[in-house]
Amino acid sequence: EQLTAGRPANPFGTGSLTRVFAVASGKGGVGKSTVTANLACALAARGLSVGLVDADIHGFSIPGLLGTSARPTRVDEMILPPVAHTVKVISIGMFLDTDQPVAWRGPMLHRALEQFVTDVYWGDLDVLLVDLPPGTGDIAISAAQLLPGSELLVVTTPQQAAAQVAARAGQLSEQTGQQVAGVIENMAAMTLPDGTVLDLFGSGGGASVTQRLTEALGHPVDLLGSVPLDMALRQDGDEGTPVVLQHPESPAGAELRRIAASL
Ligand code: ADP
Repeated sequence: EQLTAGRPANPFGTGSLTRVFAVASGKGGVGKSTVTANLACALAARGLSVGLVDADIHGFSIPGLLGTSARPTRVDEMILPPVAHTVKVISIGMFLDTDQPVAWRGPMLHRALEQFVTDVYWGDLDVLLVDLPPGTGDIAISAAQLLPGSELLVVTTPQQAAAQVAARAGQLSEQTGQQVAGVIENMAAMTLPDGTVLDLFGSGGGASVTQRLTEALGHPVDLLGSVPLDMALRQDGDEGTPVVLQHPESPAGAELRRIAASL
């Protein structure tokens, strides 16, 4: 296969057959990257050809979640993405020497994301997932421009304060023209071994974001699922093999697989 000849300017431009999901959240720490990594692996496990762009440039965590320290290789003008758990993945973390912080401004961030989209040899993908940085900053807007057909997945916790900022991240779609594919609530109540229900972050955040976005956007936005707090999810992420692969029948693993199947 010729890697260099006739390289399309943007393989995910208008007319692309790849479904692109940009995963957004209002703030950090709600599990956006964990959910993204798990959805990617769950979709790949269903036999789809999946790519993952870690666009959380300042706070990248995808290589660790997928257990890869591989470096992208270059072939002529193209970058070959490392493959982790059968997902093709690219992250700024793969280009840095140590744990150096990324102190880039908007134009550099846009250029980095552009390279991830156009200079990486993705091949024919069924699905591309993009782990956006939290909030409504430069990269979220660049991602929408570079991936015109992308749909937003909005991750929130059950907490009302989190829901408010998550809804704002979803409402960015009004300006970018993106569709909101749905809302995913994460860190929902867990059932302890003795049967006690622990709702650390309260409840209702997912429903609240869904309702706010449905009203603001004028089209129905669905709550795709509610992923419980689950120690297995955290541990498996730390180990670099996402819960959907390592403990698919765990409460979080089962729900994430159900959400992936519904996309
Ligand atoms: P974000 O990308 O939104 O900043 P992360 O995906 O990095 O969030 O998750 C933040 C932390 O919370 C991680 O340590 C992760 O393992 C943990 N975590 C995320 N979701 C859950 C969950 N459902 N149950 C337990 N721990 C979780």
